[in-house]
Amino acid sequence: MTTIQFILDPTQLTKKDLAIYSCFICRDISFDDYLYQCSKGHTACKGCWARHLRTKKTCMECIEKINSLENLSTNRKLRELLFKKKFKCPYHYSNIIKSDDSEPLTNTGDGCKEIIIGEKLKNHIENCEYRFVKCKNEKNGCNFNSRFKLYHSHEDLCLYKYIPCFYCKSLIVKNNEINHQVECESFPVECKLCQNQFEKREINDHLANNCLESLIPCPLEEFGCKEKEKRSKIQDHLNGNHNTIFIEQIKKIHQLQNEIYNQNQSIINQNETISRQGQEINNLKENIHIIKKDLENFKLNLPTTTNEQFPEINKIQKPEIHTNYYKNFSYKNTWIIENYSKITSTICNVSFDPFNFEINLNKREINGENVVELSVYYCKDFEINVNFSFILQNHKKITTLKERFNKDFTEKYFLKKTAYGWQKAFREAINKKNGWLTKDDTMVLEITFKCSSIVKPLFS
Ligand SMILES: [Zn+2]
Ligand SMILES: [Zn+2]
Ligand SMILES: [Zn+2]
Ligand SMILES: [Zn+2]
Ligand SMILES: [Zn+2]
Ligand SMILES: [Zn+2]
Ligand SMILES: [Zn+2]
Repeated sequence: MTTIQFILDPTQLTKKDLAIYSCFICRDISFDDYLYQCSKGHTACKGCWARHLRTKKTCMECIEKINSLENLSTNRKLRELLFKKKFKCPYHYSNIIKSDDSEPLTNTGDGCKEIIIGEKLKNHIENCEYRFVKCKNEKNGCNFNSRFKLYHSHEDLCLYKYIPCFYCKSLIVKNNEINHQVECESFPVECKLCQNQFEKREINDHLANNCLESLIPCPLEEFGCKEKEKRSKIQDHLNGNHNTIFIEQIKKIHQLQNEIYNQNQSIINQNETISRQGQEINNLKENIHIIKKDLENFKLNLPTTTNEQFPEINKIQKPEIHTNYYKNFSYKNTWIIENYSKITSTICNVSFDPFNFEINLNKREINGENVVELSVYYCKDFEINVNFSFILQNHKKITTLKERFNKDFTEKYFLKKTAYGWQKAFREAINKKNGWLTKDDTMVLEITFKCSSIVKPLFS
């Protein structure tokens, strides 16, 4: 920041006049503003009044109270007198009393020699050819600081002015032109391969895609040709012999076609399987529906009752019966048949409600021989697994005959249209001699019967 203070040299003013026309404090004659005065005529420039009123609220000469500049009046008469006097231009060298040490003002000549009437002085000072100015390119680094007169010739020569780049047209500082050209994307460069000129921004694209002299891989590279050729000759290369490559590729195409065909077949098969399984699922759903209906019927048959009918001559233990109607049912008992030899028809008959189950032991005569028949039935309406076993006992041996059957077995040997059944005939004589009867003519038969429903809560 250059500050240059100067005194005005009012050639027509006496020392006494100066005392009247100048500020009481700073002794300057003000041309750009009025002088201000208190009611008693004590006069100072606007700046001096403002500085004074910051610390004291009175006139600087008398003790009149003054709160702000608004309490003061302008000295219009003094200003009018001043405007009619003549002055030397303050930019005359002899008028300059102070400058920064960095400003070598001695080289700038004596300066302005004009004498100007007071009312035009302000305008002259602002436009004087000898006023000091800085270069408008100061922020770019220009140190020019001299008389305005010299600025015209400097402006053209200034190394810090903006100029358009010759190549990219963007504005750059003249002094920086060489540095800019290193980076300028429009700066011309020569292709090292084909010696043609390009803007710098184009050269990479040129080399990658257009330069006829650059080496590029054969377009059939991914099919097996590993050769490289100049771009200008690549068409000749393509017209050359690639037969082995084509044969290899045709083989691969055939392989792929086969694979596609096989995969299509497998998709067709899978679709068939899916539709078949869909059908099976539908069938299963129908079965479940039927089973649910059966279960409803099954509930209607509750509760269970067991009937055991024995002739008077027989004894029977209390049977064990366990029932869970939707899952399983079991019956276990020991039949003790006394006076066996005297019985002629039904020995024992038991039936159970939940599965219409029946166990019968009958005695009848075939060809003069006594035959004992043991038979089991249950209703075909129920899908159940059955385990039936019996043990014929006497005093000496626990087990002499043991039979078991299950659903598979009874399907082979059903006896009635509405029931599965099984029958065993003991044609051998059952007598005391072979040990099947005790000495006091008693037969002991242990019966075990278990069945379980196959209904499962598939969709609960
Ligand atoms: Zn002043
Ligand atoms: Zn005063
Ligand atoms: Zn001047
Ligand atoms: Zn400059
Ligand atoms: Zn440029
Ligand atoms: Zn090139
Ligand atoms: Zn090739």
